[in-house]
Amino acid sequence: MTKIIQFSTIGALMAGHVQGERDFAKLSCGCNFGLGCSANLNGELTIYDGTAYEATAGQSLETLDYEEKVPFIQLTNFNPEHEYVVEHVNHKNIEACLKRFIQAQNIFIAVSLQGVFEQIIFRRPYSLADGEERNVDELAETQKVDTFHQIEGRLIGFWTPELFGRVSVPGFHFHFLDESKQISGHVLEFYMNYAQLSFQEKQTIEITNPKSNSYKKMNIDVNMLDEMIQKIEK
Ligand SMILES: [Zn+2]
Repeated sequence: MTKIIQFSTIGALMAGHVQGERDFAKLSCGCNFGLGCSANLNGELTIYDGTAYEATAGQSLETLDYEEKVPFIQLTNFNPEHEYVVEHVNHKNIEACLKRFIQAQNIFIAVSLQGVFEQIIFRRPYSLADGEERNVDELAETQKVDTFHQIEGRLIGFWTPELFGRVSVPGFHFHFLDESKQISGHVLEFYMNYAQLSFQEKQTIEITNPKSNSYKKMNIDVNMLDEMIQKIEK
């Protein structure tokens, strides 16, 4: 599959449309790889081998039920066309590293890095109690950031061209899943001595917008949105 299947946009999510609206099962057919978040931004989702893992601060890693409704997700069938062993790779040089192998600036790419992480820093949101509310800014301020050393696992994510920066996080967006499938989250920083880099160009992106009235009547300030995407997702 050369297609990314996506529900909603990072723009709508950051503008506050965080309610779960689409069944994970309806979206996931044939897809083994991806990322997203669960309803009300209660967890970071990482899809690996067709299973969605939900990472929430203070809770053990859960798998997401197929009937669960999600506010934002990006899925694909990952069949890497390219695999390379790369050395001394981190969150700062990964862009240059990828661009050694592919002209990336205007295309979507599904990307995975696998191996032992000398260090990885990632974040997970706390779950919202019933009846409690928070905006995206409040959520960003209260997420739990963790650092692990010498941990085996993989990054799962996408490279999005700047041109599509309101559809998806521009540049890299990576989630982490450890080898034992117990630890996961949205990646902030990482460093690996050796990594297996694999990637696949995705020529098509299929976006389904939310159907709800709350989405249709949203007023989205796109300039403010760009700042938020940079601040919260990068
Ligand atoms: Zn994320």
